[in-house]
Amino acid sequence: MLAKNEKILKKELKKLKRSGIKNFINGKEVASSSKKTFQTHSPMDGELIANVASGNAKDIDTAAKAATKAFKEWRIVDHRERKNILYKIAANIEKYSEEIAALESYDTGQPIRFTKKAAIRGAANFRYFADKTIDAPNGLSTPDTHHVNFSIKQPIGPVGIITPWNAPFMLSTWKIAPALAAGCTVVHKPAEFSPVTADILCKAATEAGLPLGVWNTVHGMGETAGKSLTEHDSIKAISFVGETTTGSHIMRQGADTLKRVHFELGGKNPVIVFDDANLDRALDAVIFMKYSLNGERCTSSSRLILHESVYDKFVKKLTARVKKIKVGNPLDPKTEVGPLIHPSHQEKVLSYAKLAAQEGAKILAGGTAPKGKLSKGCYVNPTLVEGVTTKMRIGNEEVFGPFLSVMKFKTEAQAIKIANSVRYGLTAYIWTKDTGRAHRMARDVEAGMVWVNSQNVRHLPAPFGGVKYSGIGRDGGEYSFDFYMETKNICVAYDTHAIPKLGA
Ligand code: NAD
Repeated sequence: MLAKNEKILKKELKKLKRSGIKNFINGKEVASSSKKTFQTHSPMDGELIANVASGNAKDIDTAAKAATKAFKEWRIVDHRERKNILYKIAANIEKYSEEIAALESYDTGQPIRFTKKAAIRGAANFRYFADKTIDAPNGLSTPDTHHVNFSIKQPIGPVGIITPWNAPFMLSTWKIAPALAAGCTVVHKPAEFSPVTADILCKAATEAGLPLGVWNTVHGMGETAGKSLTEHDSIKAISFVGETTTGSHIMRQGADTLKRVHFELGGKNPVIVFDDANLDRALDAVIFMKYSLNGERCTSSSRLILHESVYDKFVKKLTARVKKIKVGNPLDPKTEVGPLIHPSHQEKVLSYAKLAAQEGAKILAGGTAPKGKLSKGCYVNPTLVEGVTTKMRIGNEEVFGPFLSVMKFKTEAQAIKIANSVRYGLTAYIWTKDTGRAHRMARDVEAGMVWVNSQNVRHLPAPFGGVKYSGIGRDGGEYSFDFYMETKNICVAYDTHAIPKLGA
């Protein structure tokens, strides 16, 4: 399997090296207006993957104009046609699934065991929202004595979608599919650390017959291309996934043009394990939710809050398992943790291990970069730290890597206090067999999403999003349409009501 993945990658890299990665505006691949490019390298070996168009305000303006023009038609396209096109995009994504998996692994360092699901999930996102196009405009009928009030929903306009480097393919489809289903047109700004698979998405859309200008992609830096997108007057809303501080910038940047924003931001999510839980299943879930996808996932449970009576036994088993996690080539199906996205991020994650020791916590596993042949990649050995407190920086800040902090609790109230002590509130995971307690904890923990006796299993109709500094708004199911659409009320008289007569 490794050899097959390497062969697919080699073929794709040859094409990318030759053509580079361009912007995609009005159905055409175009260089940046400045002709400037930036380089994207693999975190696995530091090799150059491609030169990428470095978009600027002018490119964003051209893309926004294309999206504005295309909006006039796309907003009223027959829902059957819109659905058919989205279905075709899904089929094309599946057609390119092997290329997507290999390129996403090489570009992001995510192990192929996870990236091979990216296409399946991406296609599922398109099909799910395609099926909803027929009902998306439905509103509410609120008749009164002399008038009929009813509401309809209409697409808000051209929207900007800004995505991060973790799971770039899947996250892009998750945002773009409902926007298109709603009748919006899109300008997408992918993350500069992982721009590669956005290219395949544009190809899948063009081949599906998506009209010109409905979907545009402008690559580039956040501070230039991203910022211009958030400031552009024709762009009516920004759907953003990324860091909390970037969210604050975007809110400020979008203020003058009164942007509607949807933010999915950082997390420092707790997993609380009680002594009555199924501890074997809890152990599997704790490990999966921190070390899958290199721990570079917003919903990962990075703080394990363990009941004191099971603490020693659980931590012993956990340490043994973490030490056995397979770190290696992300293209190898056996690999469980690959290289982190970039040397700067590797350095950041390693600096938290140093900080943990300085703050008085104890490193039980990892905290170092592997030596030998992996040393040329951005690898970090799966790290486990105990003795963490709510006062420590490592107990509060998002590390965003394979780094798990363990804390101890005695009472339910203490567990909630620790869980809620951080500024974030994205997800929480509760492990207990006591139904009443599960409900109490789910009610009191400050999080947008809570899983009881489960790892994060995504259900597309369910609302997704965070509270506190983890985000604003929800997506998934109808929630995505609430964001991408405006509700218009129409009031029609029965001609029976009195009209005040002035000057009569
Ligand atoms: P980031 O905020 O650095 O970058 C995200 C995107 O924003 C990139 O495309 C970047 O170019 C762009 N950007 C940067 N500055 C900008 C600006 N001033 N104006 C407009 N755009 C700008 O985030 P990242 O490092 O790429 O991603 C990791 C972060 O994303 C983590 O904090 C993680 O928790 C978060 N995340 C959250 C969710 C969620 O659903 N809550 C999902 C995935 C990732």
